[in-house]
Amino acid sequence: MIVPDAPPGLSPGASPGLTETAPPTTVQNLPPAGISWDPPAGDLFTADPISQAATVGAIATLVSHCTKCRLCEGRTHTVPGEGPDDARLVVVGEGPGRVEDETGRPFVGPAGELLTKILAAIDLPRDRVFICNVVKCRPPENRQPQFDEIAACLPYLHRQIEIVKPKVILAMGNTAAQTLLNAKQSLGSMRNHVHRFRGIPVIVTYHPAALLRNPNWKRPTWDDVRIARRLLD
Ligand code: SF4
Repeated sequence: MIVPDAPPGLSPGASPGLTETAPPTTVQNLPPAGISWDPPAGDLFTADPISQAATVGAIATLVSHCTKCRLCEGRTHTVPGEGPDDARLVVVGEGPGRVEDETGRPFVGPAGELLTKILAAIDLPRDRVFICNVVKCRPPENRQPQFDEIAACLPYLHRQIEIVKPKVILAMGNTAAQTLLNAKQSLGSMRNHVHRFRGIPVIVTYHPAALLRNPNWKRPTWDDVRIARRLLD
């Protein structure tokens, strides 16, 4: 299938969109294969409640009581993620920001609005996508989550992906990409490849918050999400 160009509704000069930087050409070929990683799968025969959780709602309940790392101390709400259990696309970001912490919802506020527009531009209503973060509680002052915090929280993300079984994962930002792919490469070097997480294609791109700071990254982001769209079809 030919992936559509950004719809005319996302006009230049409007609040952040993609049309002003989106190239008119279509993606002809998928990029080459990149990193593939198969982390240990959960053992269904253990009593681990995360492994036993059968729905993303059950994961959200576990997250709501979680005190496995220091990020629980400053949170207002946990932000487990939202979207259907059978979503074909999973979007993974870094962690909740201020508005997410206040509302308990992922990717809200200006970066979230931009993500909603990005998804709409590839004909994916936001409510058909499962959207989450690597860590489910807000790091203080929006700092990057630390290694031990990511390690403590990662089983939730792994189980969410196991439950949803998406056709494609879109990793937005360095933390999401490096965590999902167990890699240390820069985001720039991981872009433009089709990576694998437990066999599921992973596309790496910029975080919407980074796009708000640097509009020059909108064009490469548009290229990336069109690749994700092609893999969904
Ligand atoms: S960030 Fe994750 S591991 Fe840490 S307290 Fe929150 S839910 Fe638990």
